[in-house]
Amino acid sequence: MELVYKSTRNEQDVVTASQAILKGLADDGGLFVPERIPKLDKSLEELAQKDYQGVAYEVMKQYLTDFTEEELKQCIAKAYDKKFDTDKIAPIKEADGVYYLELFHGATIAFKDMALSILPHLLITSAKKNHVKNEIVILTATSGDTGKAALAGFADVEGTSIIVFYPKNGVSNVQEKQMVTQKGANTKVVGIHGNFDDAQSGVKAIFGDKELAKRMLQKGYQFSSANSINIGRLVPQIVYYVYSYTRLLKEGTIKKDEKINIVVPTGNFGNILAAYYAKNMGVPIKKLICASNENKVLFDFFKTGTYNKNRKFILTSSPSMDILISSNLERLIYKIAGNNAKICKQLMSSLKNEGVYQLTDEMEEQLEDFYGGYASEEETIQTIKKVYDKTGYVIDTHTAVAAGVYYDYKEETNDMTKTLVASTASPYKFARSVMSAIDKQKYELMEDFELMDELSKVSGVKVPNAIEEIRLAPVLHNLVCEKDKMKETVEMILGL
Ligand SMILES: *Cc1c(COP(=O)(O)O)cnc(C)c1O
Repeated sequence: MELVYKSTRNEQDVVTASQAILKGLADDGGLFVPERIPKLDKSLEELAQKDYQGVAYEVMKQYLTDFTEEELKQCIAKAYDKKFDTDKIAPIKEADGVYYLELFHGATIAFKDMALSILPHLLITSAKKNHVKNEIVILTATSGDTGKAALAGFADVEGTSIIVFYPKNGVSNVQEKQMVTQKGANTKVVGIHGNFDDAQSGVKAIFGDKELAKRMLQKGYQFSSANSINIGRLVPQIVYYVYSYTRLLKEGTIKKDEKINIVVPTGNFGNILAAYYAKNMGVPIKKLICASNENKVLFDFFKTGTYNKNRKFILTSSPSMDILISSNLERLIYKIAGNNAKICKQLMSSLKNEGVYQLTDEMEEQLEDFYGGYASEEETIQTIKKVYDKTGYVIDTHTAVAAGVYYDYKEETNDMTKTLVASTASPYKFARSVMSAIDKQKYELMEDFELMDELSKVSGVKVPNAIEEIRLAPVLHNLVCEKDKMKETVEMILGL
């Protein structure tokens, strides 16, 4: 049965899955949502017999109904291959009675790889299906992590090219090195003299430039974005929640129909929304525990039913969660409003104009699937140390926010349900914070790559390829531009 997509802000426009992937955002600024959340059509026991790619197909076929079996299987095969350093793709590690779902075994050792390794293939397949002949130019502004994951995903994918802008002095050494050493003839990386907001507004202005778009078309180019609101990123993220449940089942950790909790360290609300979709597809999940860092807008939201972004932005040691507007939350709002685009639109315009909105009592009642918690900087650091001291397992700062929130939850509720924590980054990605949590004095003065070797010693985990590669890799990108010259830079790159 065909599943179509609608905007969260109007009832009229209906698009297919491939059209939604191509467009990214709806014309009215809303997010595309499936008209209903489909159910799995195979039992979890049956899925337990399949590998990651097999489960991915069974989940994704329910959402991308205008893709043929062959198309979808090809996208999956190209994405989840040797770029991942384990055949399991997303292995589970137990430590101190907690099950960590490691989502960081892809090219850039963070969970964004799970979706960004398949998005390019979904995008070019969608272009073909809709008779788009132009080369797709991906334009992204990054504060560090997304840019590299997008570069790695799109590198050498035929029919696409990618330009990434980053704040020249606003990312870590390791992050910059990861980007400027990116291979692939279709990749371009540009540092700007400005901050992340400048890069972001610059990209937005280029996307909105109609005159430029016209000249692009004449040359056979069109822009697209790899933004986290694209359903081509959301759908692949549902897969690993279904997959991980079936692994726990297969290993005998849980019995048939046994419920589990899932804890997700949250920023844009994309990853946890995927877990919510998995629950609605039929995975036995009790609580979805939404973990925030000190930017705890979501904690307050779940507690009070009011979303209020009017507050100070705090820089933390879990930077990928430093977000005050969780854009994917709009999809949850739409659903708890009874798939009502009118109400959703009202709340979103209140967010835009006043920075705040308030749920109705009826909507608030439907939030009982969720539990919101947050961890302070101090608690995050202590959690890394506690887990390491107890078990020898080393977790990154984002994962530690989730683990910290889970320890609090367990103490508060005495809920003994088996619990999966989404582990969103390798500790190698945030080695400085992680090592200083383990022993501040000892590691404080060490250089980046020295720290990596020390981390390998304390954790017993080999330094990942993603890190080894950049130690000696030559710099391939050295473009730098002023923040008001981003458009000219794009024109120069594309020869317009
Ligand atoms: C992006 C990111 C998150 C937050 O995920 P959302 O889908 O934005 O909630 C958490 N941890 C890491 C390491 C990330 O890169």
